[in-house]
Amino acid sequence: KQYLIFKGKNTTWHRPTELTSILKLKEQYPNAKIVVGNTEVGVEVKFKHFIYPTIIMPNLIPEMNTITENDNCLTVGAAVTLMDMDNIFKEYIEKLPRYKTRTLKTIIDMLNWFAGKQIRNVAALGGNIMTGSPISDLNPILMSLKVKLNLISKHHGHRSVLMDEKFFTGYRKNVVKPDEILVSIEIPFSNKYQYVKALKQAKRREDDISIVTAAINVEFYDKTNVIKNIDIAYGGMAPMTVLATNTSRSLKEQKWNEELPEKTYSHLIEELPLDPSAPGGNIQFRRALTMSLFLKAYLAIAKEMC
Ligand code: FAD
Repeated sequence: KQYLIFKGKNTTWHRPTELTSILKLKEQYPNAKIVVGNTEVGVEVKFKHFIYPTIIMPNLIPEMNTITENDNCLTVGAAVTLMDMDNIFKEYIEKLPRYKTRTLKTIIDMLNWFAGKQIRNVAALGGNIMTGSPISDLNPILMSLKVKLNLISKHHGHRSVLMDEKFFTGYRKNVVKPDEILVSIEIPFSNKYQYVKALKQAKRREDDISIVTAAINVEFYDKTNVIKNIDIAYGGMAPMTVLATNTSRSLKEQKWNEELPEKTYSHLIEELPLDPSAPGGNIQFRRALTMSLFLKAYLAIAKEMC
């Protein structure tokens, strides 16, 4: 595989083939932009007229373009395209016990509603995380699972962070340092008594941006309907994807029965108020959606538990 350099009038593209070369490049050009599918950066360049003099394409770096199996997770390279991830996850869903791949299934179910095939053919998971759009479709799922992100930089070496409530620090901002590169994402397998559901509401069924997206990850005590742990994440309800931590905390030790949705609504309404001037409008509709998407997930999980 060849290290390529394309030189244009305004921009030079580098396509290194090893992690060590990308680190050197990042040191040499601290403002270099990492670009995989270009579905976010391309929009910035074309419509917002941003200029990125140095672009690095990590698509050929093995650690970033493969999916490997570990004991409790699949480690997905940050430059793996959504389409490849979809295909590989489907193979795991075929061969592993069904309960183990509920996390993977939730992700591929959401990919049905994520952009169109052309975008999914080139866009990567890393780009979705690093862009940090508040209406991202995958970030709510990743946050409800608190996935582990593996980072690397010349100065900080290898470092891992969890995609929890501290990960996003503001509108399209996160805790990853400017010189760090996202190498991979660890997607955990689910356990026997764990269920994960995600739902997206958009104006149009296919290829549309979401209004609100919800992801619910719940684990029960063995052979019961008593909640051991639950994490509920929402997109479209704040300047960033958020975990409804208070709501989740209040639901621990509760039973998954008909009374649960009512209890949840009162917490959700308080925790995700949405200012009347919030960008995107549709304030009451979005508030209602937090509850109706939870209800849908509640019913789907109740059915799956039977
Ligand atoms: P790029 O444009 O290549 O990069 C995006 C950003 O991430 C850049 O700032 C880049 O520097 C940074 N980055 C990328 N990889 C790394 C890395 N390894 N380390 C550090 N930084 C990195 N999004 C949705 O959530 N749902 C949708 O339905 C949806 N539909 C879309 C439809 C269209 C028509 C378009 C144009 C976009 C859509 N998007 C959607 C947004 C976009 O496709 C996704 O966010 C996608 O995952 C971005 O991936 P990419 O590889 O193209 O990112």
